[in-house]
Amino acid sequence: MPDTSPAAIPDPDAPAKEKNVKYIFVTGGVVSSIGKGITSAALGRLLRNRGFEVAMQKLDPYINVDAGTMNPYQHGECFVTDDGAETDLDLGHYERFVDINLSRAASVTTGTVYGAVIQKERRGDYLGGTVQVIPHITGEIKERITQYGRSTGADVVIAEVGGTVGDIEGLPFLEAIRQMKRDAGAENVLYVHVTLIPSVGPWNEIKTKPTQHSVMRLREVGIAPDVLVCRTKVALTTEQKDKLGLFCDVSLDAVIEATDTDTIYAIPVMFEDQGFTDLVVRRLHLPETPSNLSDWRGIVKRILEPSKAVRVAVVGKYTENGDAYISIGESLKHAGIASDARVHLDWIDSETLDEPGAAETRLSGVDAVVVCPGFGGRGVPGKIAAVRYARENKVPFLGVCYGMQMAVVEYARHVAHLAGANTTEVDADTAYPVIALMPDQYGIADKGATMRLGLWPCTLAPETLALKLYGKTNIEERHRHRYEVNNDYREQLTKAGFVFSGTSPDHKLVEIIELPQSVHPFFIATQFHPEFLSRPNRAHPLFAGLVEAALSN
Ligand code: GLN
Repeated sequence: MPDTSPAAIPDPDAPAKEKNVKYIFVTGGVVSSIGKGITSAALGRLLRNRGFEVAMQKLDPYINVDAGTMNPYQHGECFVTDDGAETDLDLGHYERFVDINLSRAASVTTGTVYGAVIQKERRGDYLGGTVQVIPHITGEIKERITQYGRSTGADVVIAEVGGTVGDIEGLPFLEAIRQMKRDAGAENVLYVHVTLIPSVGPWNEIKTKPTQHSVMRLREVGIAPDVLVCRTKVALTTEQKDKLGLFCDVSLDAVIEATDTDTIYAIPVMFEDQGFTDLVVRRLHLPETPSNLSDWRGIVKRILEPSKAVRVAVVGKYTENGDAYISIGESLKHAGIASDARVHLDWIDSETLDEPGAAETRLSGVDAVVVCPGFGGRGVPGKIAAVRYARENKVPFLGVCYGMQMAVVEYARHVAHLAGANTTEVDADTAYPVIALMPDQYGIADKGATMRLGLWPCTLAPETLALKLYGKTNIEERHRHRYEVNNDYREQLTKAGFVFSGTSPDHKLVEIIELPQSVHPFFIATQFHPEFLSRPNRAHPLFAGLVEAALSN
């Protein structure tokens, strides 16, 4: 019989009950770049699949306020959120795996934490007190984690601590997540440690000692991991898992194996099949809900068994670090999923195309060309040569941000007869500054967070490739740039056959340029970064269009 007592009838005016938020903290041991980001993202996908609201957060111990001022060679891509935060590339993994849009609050760095604490100290918030790492810095970190959980309405917050256990700058973060167990209750907190299990010698002998040592470092700061995610080239035997569990005080079912895979998108499936999600649900006392990973398994199958293949040249300045354009690479793979094609990425250092004739030799035979974002003058002649090659040889082309600016420069120089046209970023004295600073950027000396950042609206012109691809007139895309197409040259370039197919709603800023399909099968470039909105289950229309065009090329 239904309970009709007053207590059982919800009072519509009662304040919403606070959710009992669960926290999963992901740390890394032995070496950096061990896959904490993808582990966190995969776990997020699996919990979302079980019907939970998942919030993803990255705690980065470096002192920089954000990733905007970091070198892509060292740190990989700078990811941008809807609200214009310049963040670590792991946020890109979170968005792509979990299929959520993150905000600024998803990224916490030592720089932001200390900045906030120092501001409070100056304001007098701690008047009379001595401001210390514990409790003030750790308190600020915890506040950012719990506040994030509350504001996103999450059932589970997955917070990844950047760096490796044992790093000096990581200590306040480890101390904060240690305290979280006491604050939130042991039943609401789970520690996942991602670690490397090297195999050495001619027989690929598995070595557990580095992991034992990194768990020891964690224990020194008072954290006992609940789960070990073991990165390994060779599968672990039950005995080896048991040994790891014994030395690290983790139960056998909590030793999860993460062997190398052909695609990162197979990792959620690998975890699910080892009972990782069930374990998390059990340990965190989450309700048992059904799992249906069939869509995700379908994506993995399409990646692994495509029926077609294309080769896409990706031209950029930072190609030595595979992570520098990670979202572009992933977007191309997503487009491959949509087109049932394997997309071979041919990373090309633009500087190698600088010499006359180099682009023709190096790019001959590719099915499509992408020219990447970038800054400064190095490798610019090579980028321009790549655009020219794609334009003249009718090879499908997509230019992103600097790639679009290079397409404008190339067209101005070689078609619109504006010899020496340039962006003022490269040549401040050019006779034809077709790309230039917007007035609101004059006089800005600070480099951090001063670009045009985040989501901005764009209106697409009728009868354009852009409109055909998007299928709607009004779109929003993420930005990260300082320079813009110079409106003084729009008329001249239009007369020369260039099409400005996307602009800000007031038409003042150029967002997309293209060539008519009567002269080129697929030539389009954007001031914004479409790669930040592509998902494995939802390829971005521009990348999908490029790969389709490459297939029919
Ligand atoms: N350097 C260019 C600008 O600032 C392009 C930036 C980019 O490619 N992200 O406008």
